[in-house]
Amino acid sequence: MTTLAILAAFLVGNVLFSALFLWLVARWVKASKPTFLRAIGATMAMMVAGIAIVAGVSRFHNRFEPQGMQVLLIEAGIVLVSQMLASWLIIVAMVRITFLRAVLVWLGTWIPAIATSGLIIYLIRPFVFEAFIVPSNPMAPAVIGWHQERTCPNCGGMLIVPLPDPEDMERFGVMPDEDVAAICTVCRKTTLVHYDGTVGQRLDVILANKLAMPERWHKMPAVKTPDRILANKLLTPQRWDMIVFRYPENPAEKFVMRLVGLPGEKVYIKEGAVWIDDVRTEPPAELTGLHYTTELSGGFPVALGTPENPLHLGATEYCVLGDFSPRCNDSRSWGPLPSDHIEGVVTVCYWPVSRWRIFR
Ligand SMILES: [Zn+2]
Repeated sequence: MTTLAILAAFLVGNVLFSALFLWLVARWVKASKPTFLRAIGATMAMMVAGIAIVAGVSRFHNRFEPQGMQVLLIEAGIVLVSQMLASWLIIVAMVRITFLRAVLVWLGTWIPAIATSGLIIYLIRPFVFEAFIVPSNPMAPAVIGWHQERTCPNCGGMLIVPLPDPEDMERFGVMPDEDVAAICTVCRKTTLVHYDGTVGQRLDVILANKLAMPERWHKMPAVKTPDRILANKLLTPQRWDMIVFRYPENPAEKFVMRLVGLPGEKVYIKEGAVWIDDVRTEPPAELTGLHYTTELSGGFPVALGTPENPLHLGATEYCVLGDFSPRCNDSRSWGPLPSDHIEGVVTVCYWPVSRWRIFR
């Protein structure tokens, strides 16, 4: 709820602030209808048009492969020019003004835009909300990294097949030709699927490395991009919240996982569930079907969080686990998370639009 309230307040404040400048400049250049209401209308129309243009171009982008650097630059150009033209036309229509003067009014809207960016960089990002992209899949299917979509053999729902981060691909060259655990977005069961050797290759990576591109890769299932999320830094983390934290073994890296054990508790995994102080703990309804395991894919046993070797959390320590249990490097491997490593509570998935959700 706090999340929605803060986002709404920010959005309304931003609209009013931009509209104020649009209104002032429109009056200054003697538009024929420079009312504040029309300035608000113009500002909102410009925002909607801007989002629609970015969404439209990114739809086109997903269908357009290979995605080289040139394509990205052309797309950025298309977005910029169309947003500019749309803004000018909206200003002409809303405050009744000549096209040239509309350009002046549009330049005036840059003042609040720059001020808002400053606010985001220096105040909101460090203290309130921060946006993250999660490239990997320890939290699938709640938060998804690079992946492919297939069909779940258990329920027919959408199966998420994790793919490596393209940056890792670049480092390691080729995709492993092996079976990989995939997880369903509906029943949350894991299934072993085959990568089909080269299926996961990103074409732009291949092109950058000047590798040969066999014919069959043209038929590969589309590579899907990671979710974009917002973490709220004002909230106190509670059990089952997803949190962003600095990885204790390399604090420069940030991970997203689910907070499962609180300070002072004894935590272990048994019969697919989390046990807290020897009591089986049921996760909230939206996690039904998740199966926690003490064995990583490939049959490697985890070091901690087993009934024989439980995690004993100190006064300022938490236990974090990934939802995609066979595939994550969480407290079962590296132990408790110190509380000062927590960055924020994951509250919103805002992109892609089809995956928009509020978690808390
Ligand atoms: Zn399923």
